This record gives sequence, structure tokens and C-alpha cells, in this order.
Amino acid sequence: MKVSNRIQGLTGGGDDGWGVFYKARALKAAGEPILELTIGEHDIRTDATILAAMNDAAAGGHTGYAMVPGVQKLRETVAKRVQTQSGVKTGPENVMITPGGQSALFASHHAVCDEGDKALYIDPYYATYPGTLRGIGAIPVAVQAHAEDSFQPKAEEIAKLAKGAKSLLINSPNNPTGVVYSRETLQGIADTCIANDLWLISDEVYDTQVWEGEHISPRSLPDLAERTLVVGSMSKSHAMTGSRVGWVVGPKEVISHLITLATHTTYGVPGFIQDAAVFALTSGSELEENIAAPFARRREISKDLIAKQNVLKLIPAQGAMYVMLDVRATGLSGIEFAEKLLEEQKIAVMPGESFGKAAGGHIRIAMTIADDDFATAFKRIIDFASLHSQ
Ligand code: PMP
Repeated sequence: MKVSNRIQGLTGGGDDGWGVFYKARALKAAGEPILELTIGEHDIRTDATILAAMNDAAAGGHTGYAMVPGVQKLRETVAKRVQTQSGVKTGPENVMITPGGQSALFASHHAVCDEGDKALYIDPYYATYPGTLRGIGAIPVAVQAHAEDSFQPKAEEIAKLAKGAKSLLINSPNNPTGVVYSRETLQGIADTCIANDLWLISDEVYDTQVWEGEHISPRSLPDLAERTLVVGSMSKSHAMTGSRVGWVVGPKEVISHLITLATHTTYGVPGFIQDAAVFALTSGSELEENIAAPFARRREISKDLIAKQNVLKLIPAQGAMYVMLDVRATGLSGIEFAEKLLEEQKIAVMPGESFGKAAGGHIRIAMTIADDDFATAFKRIIDFASLHSQ
């Protein structure tokens, strides 16, 4: 029996630069001591107090079907949080709770794009983006950001591809580059969206991990709230990746359609997980600051080490749990660098090519191991680069 063309074409063919990652996982499974600096998974687990809240909720009986749009208390809590961050009036009717940010990305595009519509996204990009867009039948169109611009996308390059497009997907703080979009970048994006009548999908799952400057949600810019859908998640801010809880924030009408979509797809998020999310979001900022702190420390470690050499260049990143290095001075592509590093040093990193064309000749290092181990791994990456640049 033949499966659908749409599902067969989801990844666009090839391994999309994920070969190194799969090789590292296979070597690890075969017992090799691989140091993994690949995916965005914290080196700590969900806090015990959040787990206790989850357990209490489940033991207290919140194990049946939960309300499809999300439990009211969580919708209110997210609305309040977003209103405080953005200054834009936000109520529970503007919030839809989803099984993680990933499903929020899918639902958002489902709400604004029809089959065959052009959906723009910025390259370098979080690896699932093009597949998510193909998944709803849209045609993914990448807008290149450039290393020379510190990967801040340029409004004029978006405008060149915007004709006839329906939506633009952005992500700040950015995975994979760690770059936080400046006010100027965001205002350029806002103007382009308005001029071309585009929906803006703003993936803000790293909004609590900003080391320099500030996170600005485009929802807060003039006239943008009505055309913006914000994607959020508990995964990164509260080390709750496995709990699968996130949200879409947007105009009430869109949210009401998303509720219909969820009724026919996910049927909501477990109630005890949502109760734990309410607990986590109302526990004060210390919890999320503690979760973010190790990444800030490790970023300083990487900056200090980079300053002592001159082969690798650090992309001046301001947030998220990754650092991106320009490895072009070694004469290797990102894929070649990552493959050799795995072979010779047993260290796994992601080649920039996994995240699109714009990040070719770069590698992404997830800062997701203990500080000392991170420093040792980083030094070995530097030594490896200088050896290969001679
Ligand atoms: N957006 C970005 C940029 C991400 O890096 C991730 C996860 N790595 C997600 C969305 C999805 O996260 P989740 O589904 O766990 O909320």
C-alpha cells in the first residue's frame, strides 16, 4: 500500500546534515565514549518541586481528558506572563495550550497557510521547520541570513521573497546561532510583514535564555499583534522537554480555530502536566533563572577560550543554549569538521549544514554538559581545529 506523497516528502529527502548525529548515537549505543554536544536537552532534569506538583495533580484525580484549549488556570497564567513581557493586552481567549512548541508551530501554520501557499522562514533555522511547513502542505521558502551580519535577517531580503507568500517564521533567541534579534531587525521584519500582508509566526521558546541585550517579542510592536502568532514552551525555560507542554498566543479568532484543530488532532494536553506548568510558571523567576544560568556560564567559558586562539570564530550570540563557531579557516565544511571531530576526538557536534545553507562552514555546540567537561571539550575542539588548519 502506498503512503501519501505529502508524508513521503516531509523531510525533503537526504539526511539534511543529520548523518553525524545519527553516527554519534550509533557509536554511543555500541559502547564508545562519545561526548555529545548535539541536541538542545539540558543536563539537569525537571525540578523535583515541579514533579511533586505533577504527582499531586495526578494523584488528586486530574488524569481524565483535560479541556481541549488548555485548563483555564494555565491559559490565564500564560496570558498574564505574555502581557507582562509584551505590554499587549492578553487574556485566556488569546491562548491555546499545545503538546510542546513543536505542535504549536504546526498548528500555527495550519491556521494561516493553505495547501500550496508559500511559507517563509529564516535560514539558519531550527531543523524541523521545513518539514513542519511541508506537513501542512505549504511550500517552505528559506530567506538567508548571513554570518557577516551576525545572522540578523535583513528586511530587504525577506521582502524580495515575500510576494505571494502567506507567512514568515522567525526565531529569537535563535537556534542554532544563539543570536537575539535587535529592535531594528524586528522593526524591519514588522514593516515587511505589514507591507506584504504576511502572518508572522514568532518562535520564542528560548525567551528566558538571554545573556546580553533584551528579548523583544514582535507582538509588542505597533500593529503587529493582530497578525502575529507567538509560539512558547515549557521545554527550555523549565527543563520540561519530556512533558510536552507549550502554547500559541494570538488573536482570539485564530485561537478559536486552533481549538477546533486540536479537537480533531491532539485532543489537548494531560491535565496533571498543565497543573505542573501552572505551578512552575507561578513559582517565581528564580527557578527559570537557575535553569538558564549554566548556559550563561558556559558561554563565558567558550568566549574566554576563543579569545586565546585565532582559527575559530565565535558567532556573537546573546542567548539560547548553543554557541556557533565559524570553522571556515580550517578549510573544512561544517560536515567535514564534525565528522572528523567525531572520528578523531569522539566529540559530537552539529554541522551548521544541518540548519540550512547559511550556516555552512559552521558548527553548533550545545552547552549541555557540566562546566568542567564543557571547558575540556571546547579546548579539544580548538586543538583539533588548529591541527587541521596547518
Ligand atoms: N523551536 C525551537 C527553535 C527549538 O529549538 C525547539 C526544540 N529544540 C522547539 C521549537 C520545540 O520545542 P518543544 O516542542 O520541546 O517545545
